[in-house]
Amino acid sequence: MTATIIDGKAFSARVRAEAGRKVMVLKEQHDLTPGLAVVLVGEDPASQVYVRNKGKATVEAGMKSEEIRLDVTATEQEVLDVVHRLNADPTIHGILVQLPLPKQVDEMAVLDAIDPMKDVDGFHVINTGRQAVGLPAMVPCTPLGCLMMLKDTLGDLSGLNAVVVGRSNIVGKPMASLLLSENCTVTIAHSRTRDLPAVCRGADILVAAVGRPEMIRGDWVKPGATVIDVGINRIPKEDGKTRLVGDVCFDEAVEVAGAITPVPGGVGPMTIACLLANTVTAACRQAGIDEPE
Ligand code: NDP
Repeated sequence: MTATIIDGKAFSARVRAEAGRKVMVLKEQHDLTPGLAVVLVGEDPASQVYVRNKGKATVEAGMKSEEIRLDVTATEQEVLDVVHRLNADPTIHGILVQLPLPKQVDEMAVLDAIDPMKDVDGFHVINTGRQAVGLPAMVPCTPLGCLMMLKDTLGDLSGLNAVVVGRSNIVGKPMASLLLSENCTVTIAHSRTRDLPAVCRGADILVAAVGRPEMIRGDWVKPGATVIDVGINRIPKEDGKTRLVGDVCFDEAVEVAGAITPVPGGVGPMTIACLLANTVTAACRQAGIDEPE
């Protein structure tokens, strides 16, 4: 029996439409237009595509979108000046600084300068800490999207064994923290984990956020498990072109899992949708109003 394919594209369209509907309510009832600013430093081609897509999705949801581009030679102070200006701008409720930043700019210093209330990427330590202790927080978009898909697929996650492979600050750690908040029994695996296949085989929920193409094989997956593949890896094809694959060997895992996200079309589309949802949440909190139902 093959797994149910979790359709991130369709789900993200629902989340985006929901954000758009809330924006309409906020405009009509509170004269509030949520605004999202994206800061791009340099000309990394992948980052340019992400930024363009984010801007487009923001406008489609009826929000204000501002894009600030700085030269690859920008100093840390120049980036900080932009962040400070956006922190003080009442029409901007969300600020996202596209990573990676050029090496002369300290990423932590820049993320730390963002007003935590406007930190729609959820990378500020204040938000990390608030989420960890159960206070309202801005939650990083990729793990939030994964959690939404898991809850949509499984309902209550209480008591399930969750294994998160990867412990980065932007995916693995916040994912583990969110799953813990949902009462999962959480294991965080990483490059020093012993016998990773055996650890993975214990997972009812397996989240792969490693950045290694098709590393997780079908026989690492517990029969019936729900597999969320965060990985985005570009590998060469025989014709000289490239194709995208995840961190999970999909063709093998789909034969064993109960449900699985494909790459592309799984976690990826959810990230931008969650960014829009976070911007709506941030705008409501800053305005001191309840988020529309
Ligand atoms: P990082 O490189 O920051 O982290 C990778 C993690 O994987 C590290 O914790 C590392 O362990 C662990 N790891 C590496 N090799 C192994 C191994 N052989 N066995 C077990 N663990 C290993 O990556 P990110 O978290 O930023 O991203 C992970 C993947 O997710 C990438 O493919 C990225 O492109 C993708 N991604 C997708 C997004 C989306 O929107 N869908 C958004 C963000 C990322 P250690 O800490 O010990 O080094």
